[in-house]
Amino acid sequence: MKNLIQLLDFFLPRFCQCCKSKLESDQLIACETCLSKIKPATDERLKFEFEKKFRDAKVISGFDSRYLFEKEGELQNLIHALKYEGKFRIGLFLGRKLGEKIEARICDWKPDFIIPVPLHHLKKAERGFNQSYYLAKGMSRFLNIPVAQKYLKRIRFTETQTNLTLDERADNMLGAFKVKKREMVKGKNILIVDDVITTGATVSECAKVLLENGASKVFAASAAVAD
Ligand SMILES: [Zn+2]
Repeated sequence: MKNLIQLLDFFLPRFCQCCKSKLESDQLIACETCLSKIKPATDERLKFEFEKKFRDAKVISGFDSRYLFEKEGELQNLIHALKYEGKFRIGLFLGRKLGEKIEARICDWKPDFIIPVPLHHLKKAERGFNQSYYLAKGMSRFLNIPVAQKYLKRIRFTETQTNLTLDERADNMLGAFKVKKREMVKGKNILIVDDVITTGATVSECAKVLLENGASKVFAASAAVAD
């Protein structure tokens, strides 16, 4: 297998998504130098972010992220290429990285399945795919926990949240999601996955709806956490 990759790399060289240098046969997506520039989300920072984003709503039982999101940074480049250029392999790669990070928490959380934050069907049609699905898939392969894409649906189209305040974002999300198969979420521990968690309003609204429909506990994870 390794020889085959080396052979393929010889004829079809692969390049780092960030700096465009040629990748070695054992490197995926980005080179070591670029990956090392992405800041990890430390336990201390995650604790702080949990308090800020999730403590008041009390719907998220636990939260983890692999990286810190920085504007113009390598990670933004990767997530952008996943979302807007359809580079699914980046989603699988980041999902695996996230899976490696939260493996230690799985004994505690005991998630029955992973739900990627759903996109509205119009948005999905426009983009062609849900980027969070590939993150969930990458995690799923590593952690051996199934992805349940169809249990939760986004029923309201929400405009971009970038220019909204915290409270406005929470209001903007109200009624955005609906559980499709109530019997499937009842009594379950569910892990919600998003690409970047900023205010936490989106995953909190997902969690609220899942809990209202009988889910036991809801956890949240993201490739990156932002201020
Ligand atoms: Zn690079």
